[in-house]
Amino acid sequence: SKQIQLASRPKGWPSEENFETVSVDLPDLSEGEVRVQNLYISVDPYMRGRMSAAKSYVAPFEVGETMTGGAVGKVVESRSDDLSEGALVLHQFGWRDVAQAPAGQFNEVPEIPGVAPSLYLGMLGLTGLTAYVGLTRVAKMQEDDVVFVSGAAGAVGSAVGQIAQLLGASKVIGSAGSKEKTDVLVQKYGYDVALNYKDAPIREQLPKAAPNGIDVYFDNVGGDHLEAALDVLNRYGRAALCGAISQYNNTEPDPGPDNMANFVKQSLGFKGFIVSDYMEYAGEFQERMSAWIREGKIRYDETVVDGLDNATDAFISMMQGANTGKMVVRIQD
Ligand code: NDP
Repeated sequence: SKQIQLASRPKGWPSEENFETVSVDLPDLSEGEVRVQNLYISVDPYMRGRMSAAKSYVAPFEVGETMTGGAVGKVVESRSDDLSEGALVLHQFGWRDVAQAPAGQFNEVPEIPGVAPSLYLGMLGLTGLTAYVGLTRVAKMQEDDVVFVSGAAGAVGSAVGQIAQLLGASKVIGSAGSKEKTDVLVQKYGYDVALNYKDAPIREQLPKAAPNGIDVYFDNVGGDHLEAALDVLNRYGRAALCGAISQYNNTEPDPGPDNMANFVKQSLGFKGFIVSDYMEYAGEFQERMSAWIREGKIRYDETVVDGLDNATDAFISMMQGANTGKMVVRIQD
């Protein structure tokens, strides 16, 4: 099996040198084990955190360890009664072409006609769930709320805006880093207003886009975007703090927002969250999201990079904005 391991810890932006591709001989299957050919692997921003030694909500990768993370594949050999050959499975073995382990470490998922299995890594997977619980359970979005989403053209953000519209937001504003992306936000994902944060400081653009303020902020970016949102949040406004991608590759911490006093003035409710603490809503989410997708109410993009050899490049370029919707790496069709 070909696998990609962490070779050294990056300072600032990761590069190819921080990774090493190795070949591993897989032993014959033991009783109860299955062998899975990966179809798609996921590259996600949180993996950057795991490359550092600092403790976070997921333990750091060890140097010399294979990069783990979400992946979807097909069982090609089985010595378990629980999973038969041909089953489509979701698992966490990450950046490798073939995964082999006891059947219990793989979750069988149904094949959906007309839909690529990579959707289980994006809109129908943890990414979609993050958007759903962040909006409904963390920010407690209400009908008629004005919602602002940063990182709006990414995997989580593209889901947040559409879910907000489906749940009756009065206005949904999104920000992203290119004209192509802001066009997609309005034309495809149903955003009412899209701001390109590279055109002018987001702090200048947001008040013009939200003359009556915002009620909910879904934060994927942190930094300047968080500060901009704090400026315009209405009384009793709420924010779901999902991520801070503008900070992940910094070598020095950014200064905090200069408008923290607004928390008091506006009685704001800010809540950070990690999707794994909200798994109790996975069933509800699966049901609603699959229905929305079947009914054509949710649209999605994937940026697909081909080949395990390009996984590191896919990972780094995702953090630089190369993706619209979910970035995935195709291992095999
Ligand atoms: P995305 O698909 O959104 O990809 C990352 C995007 O971040 C890029 O495409 C880029 O888009 C944008 N970006 C990069 N640098 C900056 C910057 N300086 N300012 C603004 N935007 C920037 O990734 P995900 O959807 O997977 O993740 C989005 C966020 O959600 C991340 O912060 C991630 O850590 C978080 N997350 C949190 C979870 C949780 O449980 N709390 C679970 C899953 C994700 P652009 O071209 O617009 O700059």
